[in-house]
Amino acid sequence: MTDQKDSARKKAELISNGKIYIPNDIKLPYPLERSTAGPGSGSLSITLTFENKNIKLEVSKNQNELFTLQKKHDTYRIIKRGENFLEDVKIIPTAFHAPRQAFINLENRCIYNCAFCNLSEHRFLQNYDKDKFVDLIIKASNRSDFCAVALTSGVYPNSSEIINKICDIIQNVKEKLPDIPIGVEPCIFKREEIVSLKKAGADEIKINLQIPDKDLFEKICPEFDYDNILHMLEAAVEIFGKGKVTSNIIFGLGESDETVIKTIETLSSRGIVPTLRKIRVNKDNKKKLEKALSGKIPDTSSERILHLAVKQKKILKKYNLTTKTFKTMCHPCGCCDIVSFWDI
Ligand code: SF4
Ligand code: SF4
Repeated sequence: MTDQKDSARKKAELISNGKIYIPNDIKLPYPLERSTAGPGSGSLSITLTFENKNIKLEVSKNQNELFTLQKKHDTYRIIKRGENFLEDVKIIPTAFHAPRQAFINLENRCIYNCAFCNLSEHRFLQNYDKDKFVDLIIKASNRSDFCAVALTSGVYPNSSEIINKICDIIQNVKEKLPDIPIGVEPCIFKREEIVSLKKAGADEIKINLQIPDKDLFEKICPEFDYDNILHMLEAAVEIFGKGKVTSNIIFGLGESDETVIKTIETLSSRGIVPTLRKIRVNKDNKKKLEKALSGKIPDTSSERILHLAVKQKKILKKYNLTTKTFKTMCHPCGCCDIVSFWDI
């Protein structure tokens, strides 16, 4: 096994487990993050980097967690059941959710109810108007490591207001930061919404299919139309171009490997580069998911996470696609997934 595969396997183990215990006596160089979006939203998380791989883990107060962070000289190490697991681990800043990006969630409220979604009401967002978000992004751009902007949002009070808000923010930011790439991840229902986002200056777009298995999709995202999302993704490739469109594909809810692989193939053959993601289960979404599935959520092994990422890389290569064309959102961030071409 090569070093890269070994470190990818370790990253997959950390993703599979999802949590890390941090003893109280460790002084952290940056505050812990309480995400308002992404798979760890709602919980406190820490972002670590090792061997050119980033990972965001939920911080646990339970001393009996499988993984523990320890300080070692100027860096950190991760201990697994009392044994050394990873050396030379660093903590990296995510002042605006993702390393080197200002990834901003514009709205925590949502009129929909996807069972995996952890959007919670952080009151401060409701005090933010468009100008304040623009100011926040301009402030973030003063950081020396800043290289991209990404905007996501719940749907509230309706989709067209959110799309207009995102377009206004993009136009304002592009006036002040013309060379900074901007990615957008809103719910899309109509082709015109994609056209407006492109016209406003967005460079990349993520339209989430979320659940690859159609039957599971109906249970987890009952208010959405699977086929319409596929149509919107196709329209997005026409408008943004190949290698500029991505879509979250969440696995670990009882679907087969075959279904995940078939969905990766379906998307890739249309010029879409999927963001392949193991479901993150936590106290906020566990009950909702179990209710939707009418049963327990299966465990997902690190082997399966790696296996699917390897398959994805092969399929992307077949269609002359790569995750490396993306400058914004999850592919370059890499904190939540084994990202083909970055991690393997
Ligand atoms: S539409 Fe998006 S924000 Fe709203 S519940 Fe579904 S995943 Fe969450
Ligand atoms: S991989 Fe995506 S969801 Fe996860 S922290 Fe990075 S930007 Fe957020």
